[in-house]
Amino acid sequence: MKILTATLGYPRIGKNREVKKALEAFWSSKIDAGSLQKTIREVEEKNWKTQLEEEIDRIGIGDTTLYDHVLDWAIRLGLIPKRFQPFEGLERYFTMARGKEGIPALEMTKWFDTNYHYLVPEISSDILPADFNDFLETIDRAQSLLGKKATPIILGISTLLRLSRLEINIDEAIEKLLPLYVNLLTEIKNMGIEEVQIHEPVLVLSDAVSLKQQFQTIYNRLASIGIFINLVTYFDDLGETYPWVIDLPVAAISLDFTRGRNLDLIKTYGWNHDKRLGVGIVDARNIWQIRTDRVLPLLSEIKTLIPNISIQPSASLQFVPYDAKREKQLPEPLRNILSFAEQKLQEVKFLSRTIGGENTRIEQDLIEELIDTNWEAFKQFSPANKSVREKLKNLKLDDFQRPLSYQERQSVQVSLPPFPTTTIGSFPQTPEVRQLRVRYKKGEITQEEYQAAIDAQIAHCIQLQEDIGIDVLVHGEFERTDMVEFFGQQLQGFAFTEHGWVQSYGSRYVRPPIIYGDVVRTSAMTVREFKVAQSLTKKPVKGMLTGPVTMINWSYVRDDISRAEQAFQIALALREEVADLEAAGASMIQIDEPALREGLPLKYDRWNDYLSWAVDAFRLASAIAKPQTQIHTHMCYSEFGDIMSHIERLDADVLSIENSRSNNETLFEVTEAGYSHQVGNGVYDVHSPAIPSPEQILQQLRTGVANLPVKQIWVNPDCGLKTRRWEEVIPALKNMVEATKVLREEI
Ligand code: GLN
Ligand code: ZN
Repeated sequence: MKILTATLGYPRIGKNREVKKALEAFWSSKIDAGSLQKTIREVEEKNWKTQLEEEIDRIGIGDTTLYDHVLDWAIRLGLIPKRFQPFEGLERYFTMARGKEGIPALEMTKWFDTNYHYLVPEISSDILPADFNDFLETIDRAQSLLGKKATPIILGISTLLRLSRLEINIDEAIEKLLPLYVNLLTEIKNMGIEEVQIHEPVLVLSDAVSLKQQFQTIYNRLASIGIFINLVTYFDDLGETYPWVIDLPVAAISLDFTRGRNLDLIKTYGWNHDKRLGVGIVDARNIWQIRTDRVLPLLSEIKTLIPNISIQPSASLQFVPYDAKREKQLPEPLRNILSFAEQKLQEVKFLSRTIGGENTRIEQDLIEELIDTNWEAFKQFSPANKSVREKLKNLKLDDFQRPLSYQERQSVQVSLPPFPTTTIGSFPQTPEVRQLRVRYKKGEITQEEYQAAIDAQIAHCIQLQEDIGIDVLVHGEFERTDMVEFFGQQLQGFAFTEHGWVQSYGSRYVRPPIIYGDVVRTSAMTVREFKVAQSLTKKPVKGMLTGPVTMINWSYVRDDISRAEQAFQIALALREEVADLEAAGASMIQIDEPALREGLPLKYDRWNDYLSWAVDAFRLASAIAKPQTQIHTHMCYSEFGDIMSHIERLDADVLSIENSRSNNETLFEVTEAGYSHQVGNGVYDVHSPAIPSPEQILQQLRTGVANLPVKQIWVNPDCGLKTRRWEEVIPALKNMVEATKVLREEI
């Protein structure tokens, strides 16, 4: 029996980053709107063809975007805030996305627990008329290529509302939006489309249980149109919403079977058998080939419980790169077990044919054997590292605990003036610095030449900080491309792709590292540069490391051991680095954890579990430091209020946070919680090219003094300075030091 296959979205950046290139060319007026549009369509149509060739029966369409699909829906629905209304067309679109002089863009934030960022719609009472033309036109093109397989993807009302900033009440918003959705679905139906997907990932959030009424109202209304609706959820299980979601008047419901406990829910509450179940079983958030011994039994079990199913990736494939086969630089045994979007389509097809009994015995055996052989070869290639496993097994409580308490440590650590000034680590990554690294990588300059050039940068940076009068210095991070990549490249167990780009936001793409094996540090990673820097000054220079949790959260991780175990392995490697830095004379070591918060699970009841191992990993990395060594940590893009007790448990001596950008929100949260260690609440926003005046910084400092005891306060920018230019950094830091001097006079 034929089992349906479906997709829920596809990478939309182009196999060779065509969309980025076209966007950037358009922004710098090198191409016109027509060629931009043409590129987007070519990418889109190629994607469709690939999915067609892999025999996908319900191909998700309409998710391709110039910048962000949430922005696309906001604009289609007429949710255009006043400040953008004077503009039209693409100018308006990109102004909403990126802002303009004096017109701030929509705010940007993370899409659920992914590293994709969407633009936050603002919904007020005056909305413009809806305009679905671009979407309908896409459907039209898709229909002519894909026929009945074209399945439009629509962002659900509840999810859209939940992700938006609402200036009106929610019922009013639904009243405005629902008729627009009704019109849209009616038009789509009239075009001869039989099935649509409405994506409602909001349903997996802990508090979605309160949305029952809202969902019933919306879906009762949409059901009356008589088009086949597949209600799509992902990233976790339905949790407490499950019992009422399965009774909503839709024709299919899609669930994620790679995360959470949807299978248990089905077993507990049963299923509404007039609906098809979309089985999201090919992991859209990770890059490993399926393991038949795990997936096939699971799938058979689901199929026995619910005969009417479709097989599909767990979410949109936008979270993985296009094609693992292109990664010719990776060792073959590793490459062979990687699965990017194209491989995942093949997996969907294979699983459907297997469960549907469509493969011949020989085909079936061949494919299963191939998958097994690949995994077997990989195991040989990357065996467990006995010594790391042994160390992990033998960890004792003391390994997570600094020998003295924070209070006791303070008196033995470096003494500094009140309001010590420092920076977060990186200094401008000029074209010159970037070129240097590229030339070294290409082998155009020798290691000696490269290091000499880096050292010259360090010397310049140290001299500058001395001249400005900063108290605690940094070396500037000129040797680092990216804070995770730099460490990953020096650690065993990490791999890096050549073409593995995924969209982070707009035209910004990243290539996440792949953690594939036990992590081992083979030699010191940061000691050389630290020593160079420290040899040039009598002031303390901070050793600078990226924390274990951030490395995990910004990488594709293994699926054979837990994230906690991987974080502990990285922590062990960092622990050795901390000891080496200390031995090289570091009196302060900063371990950055900007991604600590974003790793939080979507469901509250799993927060404690995550935070418990995440904080332990940080402690494992840092607790080896002597009491005299001051441990710093830095976090950004965060709210902390609800996790302050865990931040306290990190037991860092100094915590620097992004604060100016949030209008002191973070400072208030820290104060509120009675945080007792030292805090550098960022005194100016590094994301803006504007140079903060001494008065502005002083005001920021005074807010600090009004909220925290003087002895707890440090003075630093919000975050690293790598994206800024020297012309901005120098005066800004001068003003920061000047403002600090004024404040010191006052106490
Ligand atoms: N030390 C890093 C830097 O200054 C921290 C970056 C970050 O917080 N994202 O660049
Ligand atoms: Zn930061």
